[in-house]
Amino acid sequence: MLKLNDVKTYYGNIHALKGISLDINEGEIITLIGANGAGKSTTLMSICGIVPPRSGSIDFEGHELTTMAPDKIVQLGVVQVPEGRRIFPDLTVQENLDMGAFLRNDKDAIKNELQYIYELFPILAQRRNQPGGTLSGGEQQMLAISRALMTQPKLLLLDEPSLGLAPIIVQQIFEIIKKINKEQGTTIFLVEQNANQALKIAHRGYVMENGAITLTDTSEKLLANDEVRRAYLGI
Ligand code: ATP
Repeated sequence: MLKLNDVKTYYGNIHALKGISLDINEGEIITLIGANGAGKSTTLMSICGIVPPRSGSIDFEGHELTTMAPDKIVQLGVVQVPEGRRIFPDLTVQENLDMGAFLRNDKDAIKNELQYIYELFPILAQRRNQPGGTLSGGEQQMLAISRALMTQPKLLLLDEPSLGLAPIIVQQIFEIIKKINKEQGTTIFLVEQNANQALKIAHRGYVMENGAITLTDTSEKLLANDEVRRAYLGI
């Protein structure tokens, strides 16, 4: 579904991605783990067209993304939930979700989606008329994921959904991600510093260091890998 080949991305003269290659098959949950500053967010922003790579290719279902505008990439079904959630704080929960459906005009399907989301996150249904900015961190993360779901993504890119959340909420968010993948068939690319939780729900994983992929395997094997356990699982 998605194939990155030798992607190199810069911020001015800072070489953030030093030739990244990875692939994601339809229906998979793939996680990208690594320390602070490894280049995980830059990988997602390169895919979304927000920080276009200087060289290499990104193929999504036969479309080359490296030269495509971010809004066109969203229209293809590649949707990011950015780090720090970035919901609209002054709009209500419902209005935030409506923004996610902005490019759609299939009213009946939108209604079904909304119903699915409110079943997935009953707390959002209770808070539907409340401004987004008054929600807790965990609820804002739920809203950010839900807003992305309203675009009917084929590939959902999640940037550190667990960041700054209490362990019990983190657990809930990861379970919901797994559920979305299973029930909706949405392919998921999950960037996480919480390697342990991410590898538990992912099918495969990539490990990133200093702008390069250093290791890739099934989640089971990565969880058992001594190097990964020492560096990322604190074991
Ligand atoms: P984190 O988990 O802290 O978000 P990350 O793995 O997502 O880290 P990136 O945010 O992709 O890492 O950063 C990769 C490198 O690019 C780092 O050296 C970082 O300092 C640099 N970088 C990121 N954003 C910018 C920017 N806007 N301008 C200049 N350098 C940047």
